[in-house]
Order: sequence, then structure tokens, then C-alpha cells
Amino acid sequence: MATAEIITIGTELLLGAITDTNAQYLAAILNKEGFDVYRVTTVGDNCARIAQVMKEAMQRSALVITTGGLGPTIDDPTREAAAAAFNVPLVFQKELWTQIEDRFRELGRKPTENNERQAYLPENAIGVRNLVGTAPAFYIQQDASFLCCLPGVPSEMHFLMENEIIPFIHRSFKTQAILVTTVVHTIGIGESQIDQLIGHLEKLENPTVGLAAHAGSVDIRITAKARDRQTAKELISPILEEINNLVGQFVYGYDDTTLVNAVCDELVRKGYSQISFNQQNLSFLSKLFADVMIKIHTSYAENKLKNRYNMEGTKFLTINAAAKDVKKTRELTLTIDDEKLKATESHKFLNSLDDFEEWVITRTMGFIFKYINQKG
Ligand code: ATP
Repeated sequence: MATAEIITIGTELLLGAITDTNAQYLAAILNKEGFDVYRVTTVGDNCARIAQVMKEAMQRSALVITTGGLGPTIDDPTREAAAAAFNVPLVFQKELWTQIEDRFRELGRKPTENNERQAYLPENAIGVRNLVGTAPAFYIQQDASFLCCLPGVPSEMHFLMENEIIPFIHRSFKTQAILVTTVVHTIGIGESQIDQLIGHLEKLENPTVGLAAHAGSVDIRITAKARDRQTAKELISPILEEINNLVGQFVYGYDDTTLVNAVCDELVRKGYSQISFNQQNLSFLSKLFADVMIKIHTSYAENKLKNRYNMEGTKFLTINAAAKDVKKTRELTLTIDDEKLKATESHKFLNSLDDFEEWVITRTMGFIFKYINQKG
């Protein structure tokens, strides 16, 4: 697979004044286009340092994309840095200047003397017209590698990426590949326990297997790279099977399945027709609980009508969720009353307060899921 690198340019980024959404966008799109993205580098508005980073990246990667620093002022050093990286002079490109003048005319403005700077590109560069902004982009080829320099303003950069650079990539890189991902959602097992069970799969190169822990649940992400979707799926299939063999009892669903939906489906499948919920100090759960009750009641009625499941009688479940402050932490106590049975679980909340609601929902739904699965 071809390798790619991203360089985001701007002192604002290094000061933490803005979030680097350009790197995130580019990483996602380049991966989707089948590149191995090995590095993202952020560098301030300093010509020498940018030139150094560009040179190094061009030695390593087939495609290097930079964003930022293409404005008309002296603070916008990307053109000069690219010229220095390739050891060539900046050359006035008349055609580019005409395009800039036309663009300003469209906007009802006059270009300033500074804007003329933007028509100077490194000698070996090809200008890319910017139809949504005033800063022209450009790319430079060296042997089989390309350096593409795009503006920093996200909307301009997205437009140029989608309308100019992606088509250019398709023309220039023959080894097209696509990326297919399957996400396995688990509940009731920690990240380190999963890691112990499937650690050997996390060393694979294609597909890759990675873990992502959320508040109370863990996702296993399997990503395959191949020429077409079918081949990618064939690469994923045996790994998915192995994961299901190893941690299947904790799997509640795949890809877009949410825990709440998985719990509702499982409750209906197991023949529960009515659920009642009680909460203490967790008022945000009321709406969710009401939705779940309606969903189960309706699904049960529909399935009964269609005689879809072999249901012996109807089952009822009461779930109680209560939170209280214990010392400096919060404790969540969950209890299920199911005919003669009673199950209780307590959890301590240790994360940031922002995660509390998500954590409670995940713990509550995870508890129900575990309970009904254990009961069979
Ligand atoms: P312009 O000609 O509009 O000045 P430029 O290529 O010189 O374009 P910069 O001056 O580097 O771009 O950045 C312009 C603005 O774009 C920044 O002030 C910031 O708001 C946004 N921006 C730049 N880089 C990024 C980034 N990596 N992620 C998100 N936003 C960014």
C-alpha cells in the first residue's frame, strides 16, 4: 500500500488555540482511499522548520499533504518552505495570478500587492485553482512522491481535497485499495481482559484489530484493506469468528447496533412482555426507561401476533437503579426483581463527571443484558 503523511502548519495549532480538525479529516479520507497514514506532524509558521519536515516526509512517503500557511502575508511560509525543501526558487506564475484576479473580481474585491505573493510557486510546482477561496493550492512531484499544499481554512481544504486532490490521487496512484471495518461491541468485560484473550490478533497487519474503551463498554474494531469490499470481508470473516469464539458471551452487537436496542431485542426474544423501571437520583433515566418499556411492549405484541417466537407465557422484570454519593465517588446500585429471583450489582463511578450519564446507561443496560443472558 502507498504511504501518506500529513503536515499541519500553523503556530495557532501549537499554542492550542485551535483544534487540528484538518489532520483528523485528512487521516480519515486518506485511510479510506487506501493509504497507510504513518505520521501526522504539526509545525509552526517557521519556514526552515516546515522545509525540514517536508523534506523528511517526502523521503518516507509517497504522498505528503500539508494544510495552512498559504495566505498572502509574510506569516504564510508554506510556498517558501516548499521551495527551500526542493532547493528551487519561487517563480511568478502568470496564469495563477490571472486566476487570483478573476477570483477577487467575482468576490467584488481588488487583490492587494500582498496577494501577488500567492502567485509565486516553487519552480517545479503545479498550481491548483481554489474556487472557494483566494489562496491557490499546489502540488510538486519528485520521483514517485507527491507533496500537495492546501489552504488551512477547513471548508476550502475540504473542497479542494474532494474536487481536485482525490481525483488527482486516483489518477496518480494505481494501487487503489479500500478499507472495510467491522466493530464488535462488548459489555461486561474490561479492556485488559479482552486484551489478554485476543492479544495475538492485535498483532495482525491485515486485518488490523484494535480496542476502544468507552464508559463501561469496549469495542473491538477489525479493519481490512483490500482491492474490493468482498475481499476485505473475506479477510475479516475468520477473525470475527475467532473473536466470537473467545469473547462471544460479552458481545451485544456489531457496527451500528446500540446497547439499548440490543437489550430491547434480547428482552423481546427472551419473552419479556413488560418491564418496569424505578430510579433514584437518576432522573435522566426516566425518558430512556419509558422508551424501552414502550418498545418492548410493542415488539412483544407484534411478535406475538405473528407468532414469531416460541413464547411460553409472559415474563415480567423490574429494574431498580439508584445512585448515591459515597465519600468522593458516586455509587450506582442496580437490582433486578424477576418473579422469585433477585440480582444486585454495585459500581463505583471514577471517570470525569461529563461521562456520568453515558456510564449509568451503559452499566444499567449491561446489567440487564448479562442478567437475561445468564438466565438463558
Ligand atoms: P488563508 O489564505 O485563508 O490565510 P492559509 O492557508 O494561510 O489560508 P492559515 O492562515 O494557516 O491558512 O489558516 C487559516 C485558518 O484556518 C486558521 O486561522 C484556522 O482557523 C483554520 N485552520 C488552519 N489550520 C487548521 C487545522 N489544521 N485544523 C483546523 N483549522 C485550521
